[in-house]
Amino acid sequence: MNMVELIGKKKLGQALTREEIDYFARGAADGTIPDYQLAAMLMAIRLQGMDARETTDLTLSMRDSGDKADLSAIPGIKVDKHSTGGVGDTTTLVLAPLVAACGVPVAKMSGRGLGHTGGTLDKLESIPGLSVSMEMDRFIRQVKETGLAVIGQTGRLAPTDKVLYALRDVTSTVDSLPLIASSIMSKKLVSGADAIVLDVKTGSGAIMQTVEGSMALGRAMVEIGRLAGKPVTAVVTGMAQPLGTHVGNALEVKDAIDVLSGRTKGDLLAVSLLLGSHMLLLAGRVSTLEAGRALLTEALESGRGLEKFRLMIAAQGGDPRVCDDLTLLPQPAVIREVKAGVTGYVTAMDTTALGLAAQAMGAGRVRKTDTLDYAVGFILPVRIGDALTPDTPFCTLYARTDAEADAAEAAIRRAVTIGDAPAERPPLCYAVITADGEERLA
Ligand code: URA
Repeated sequence: MNMVELIGKKKLGQALTREEIDYFARGAADGTIPDYQLAAMLMAIRLQGMDARETTDLTLSMRDSGDKADLSAIPGIKVDKHSTGGVGDTTTLVLAPLVAACGVPVAKMSGRGLGHTGGTLDKLESIPGLSVSMEMDRFIRQVKETGLAVIGQTGRLAPTDKVLYALRDVTSTVDSLPLIASSIMSKKLVSGADAIVLDVKTGSGAIMQTVEGSMALGRAMVEIGRLAGKPVTAVVTGMAQPLGTHVGNALEVKDAIDVLSGRTKGDLLAVSLLLGSHMLLLAGRVSTLEAGRALLTEALESGRGLEKFRLMIAAQGGDPRVCDDLTLLPQPAVIREVKAGVTGYVTAMDTTALGLAAQAMGAGRVRKTDTLDYAVGFILPVRIGDALTPDTPFCTLYARTDAEADAAEAAIRRAVTIGDAPAERPPLCYAVITADGEERLA
């Protein structure tokens, strides 16, 4: 088969056959198709789309491009969770320890930052000493011993996604329904989990920004799960503003520890409890969402969730003292507190621009080979609907230099709209989609 012809076909909007898709997926995994042709194909798919049959074929070829994890040695029903990506979206670091503390094993393979969105692996690596790469037998041992492990996908699991994900991050081809659906579902289908909860973000900081687009993505992934025989629940949640107040790798670890310590309540906790309840439901640990929430809340309030996080950090070579002493996390050269300086109401946020501001500070990658600065980012305590006076704390910048702090401050001010009239707080949950149907909540 000839890759130039396949790119040409997709460029013109024609559907690719199963064999052609398989050739592309395998060539990406084994390195026989060069990056420039892969990147051109990704852009053609981004611009022309794929139909449902092509999307499923791509997912299955990506699933079959490597090995499958076998988690059967871990007793119980294993439920995986994956987010389509957001800003300040640190739910894994909150809910994985809480779900594990409720007695449901969490064996999770996470990803790195993608486009303007942050990645769990990058956040975890900001913890001094912590490693996210390990062989399968050690991963399984850790989950059996501690109930919890969060690592990167090994090279042999869905290797096509590993290659395409890194290329999409730096070629502006992240926001494509077939590419997101196949990326997520191929990884989840080889992860060894018995069931999957998907957090499909919607709003200005999501990869799919409209509710309809996010619902279509959720439906596509639930349908792929149905065809592959895995129960999938997709929860469409709001990303009109960063979920947590902290954006940046070490800062998001701090935010998660603040939530697990009971110091911070708010949207990050609310969405973590929602997704965690769906995980407990799919695991058969509870029979209602309310019972799941009660169990998770008890794990939080008793400190058992934070204790699980400590155990996981230590098991992965990190310094668990970060849970009690946040100054052990990487610190930046410049910390600057910024006041609102105006009177008004926060009416909207361009959350993608906020993610890009953090990326420009060094928290995300612009090129495949970029190394991250874990200490940088910002804290944005203001939320849509808040009233501001000139003295209201607006943001705290964690930067490498004063010049980068200046640029970030300007970008954040541009991204936050302040108006004269109060605005409604955006919903946190829009819909729940399963193979049995969907419930629209907002
Ligand atoms: N998360 C993934 O794993 N892949 C995507 O394409 C988007 C979010």
